Amino acid sequence: MKFGGTSMGSAERMQVAARIIAEQSRVRPVLVVVSAMSKVTDLLLDTLHRAELGDRTAVDASIQSLLEKHLQACTQLFTVASGTGSFQEEAWSKVEALVAEFKRITNGIFMLGERPPRSVDEALSVGERLSAALLATLLNATGTKAEGVNAAEVIVTDAVFGNASPQAEPTRQRCRERLTPLLTKGIVPVVTGFNGATSDGRPTTLGRGGSDFSASILAAALDAAELWIWTDVDGIMTADPRLVSDVAVLDQVTYAEAAELAYNGAKVLHPRTLAPLAEKHIPVWSKNSFALDKPGTRIVSSFDEPRGVRAVTSMSDVVLVSMEPASAVLSGTRVMARSLDALALANVEVLVFSSSSYRQSFCFLIRKHDLNSALGALGSNLSIELAHGYLKPIEVDENVGLLAVVGEGMRGLPGLAGRVFTAISRERINIIAIAQGSSEITIGIVVRLDGLERAVRAVHAECHLGQPHLAAQLQ
Ligand code: ADP
Ligand code: ASP
Ligand code: MG
Repeated sequence: MKFGGTSMGSAERMQVAARIIAEQSRVRPVLVVVSAMSKVTDLLLDTLHRAELGDRTAVDASIQSLLEKHLQACTQLFTVASGTGSFQEEAWSKVEALVAEFKRITNGIFMLGERPPRSVDEALSVGERLSAALLATLLNATGTKAEGVNAAEVIVTDAVFGNASPQAEPTRQRCRERLTPLLTKGIVPVVTGFNGATSDGRPTTLGRGGSDFSASILAAALDAAELWIWTDVDGIMTADPRLVSDVAVLDQVTYAEAAELAYNGAKVLHPRTLAPLAEKHIPVWSKNSFALDKPGTRIVSSFDEPRGVRAVTSMSDVVLVSMEPASAVLSGTRVMARSLDALALANVEVLVFSSSSYRQSFCFLIRKHDLNSALGALGSNLSIELAHGYLKPIEVDENVGLLAVVGEGMRGLPGLAGRVFTAISRERINIIAIAQGSSEITIGIVVRLDGLERAVRAVHAECHLGQPHLAAQLQ
């Protein structure tokens, strides 16, 4: 089971989590993965940034508020009245030690005047280590044997700090050594989400929102029977409920659909969550820890019957990069190959790629925070072509957003793309680029940023996604 930031967001929410865990661990062995309390990772990142800038007052104030937030949770969780008062001191001293550790790293950054990626990852793991310590102590205090585990001990990753990838075999090995004995003894391991370490022990993180991924890595490594992801909505929905008012909860989605939704901006799952699970067919549930009576969404391998369009997602923190050879001297295909190679080496993920045969111009969409590394990589790989004017200057359009329509049942539906484009044009929103993968599960549409939200609502309405029985008839 993985509990997200809001599900760990207060003493009260942790008590709910502890009750869910206690109930389930009476029936079967349970391993828990936790996020930091909500907003804590943002606070840690902001503090590190201020330390780099040398703003001592802001750094001290943030560390104080980090400490107070967790100490307040301690005081509320462990009370004499509930018979857990004796655990307060233990939890309190763990919180103080972890905050002191964060302070030590912050001081280093303050003195250096820069944030080495490795130190950032080490510092960020403190958020999850704090919440794991609190929840493990709470479980012990309320009669469920538990032990907090730092994922740096069990999730072995490469050294891409800030966006590390797990290494399956060494991770499996460590899990067997560290976690299986706990599970066998009936002790619930409460593992930190989001972080890991290289095989030689350098701390890493898996990217923002990465606790979902941590949970799936561990579920796969331990051959779990199921993975339950507890969050603050009723499951995977037909659109982001913050953008569209009449969303419906999807009772089931396939791994492929869930992965496409996550990659195309549905924050409810970290994009890389599904890969380790799909291989092993481990079923996943997305459930609401605020509404335990709701069934949630089950993620499965496949459906018997195709179900048409399932959901629409969007991403706004993206940029479109366009490149065009200036003369026929240069092979467009070769430029594309070299550009993609440069992007891959710089760890920049391409979200949408579109090209036209005329002059072999092409454009691709990437995340805004990858722009500098992308331009640096392209500039150095193609420096001669750019300097000699064989390649036109690289163009960057920041005023764009990505909309994606997802559903395995869209395969071979000829009229569907037309309906989607018409719905967007009816709103007078400019379509800038279109891409459909050969799997036909997703149509990606790049639109002007100011029209993105309206486009999402228009497509949601056009495909009747808020009324699943009508949406199914669209097939
Ligand atoms: P957690 O902290 O539990 O990991 P997140 O905030 O990362 O939770 O993800 C849950 C949020 O994702 C929801 O509150 C919702 O606003 C947002 N969201 C975006 N798109 C979707 C979608 N298609 N279905 C469900 N939730 C979505
Ligand atoms: N705490 C981390 C973040 O906010 C990881 C997570 O919550 O999944 O990005
Ligand atoms: Mg999340």
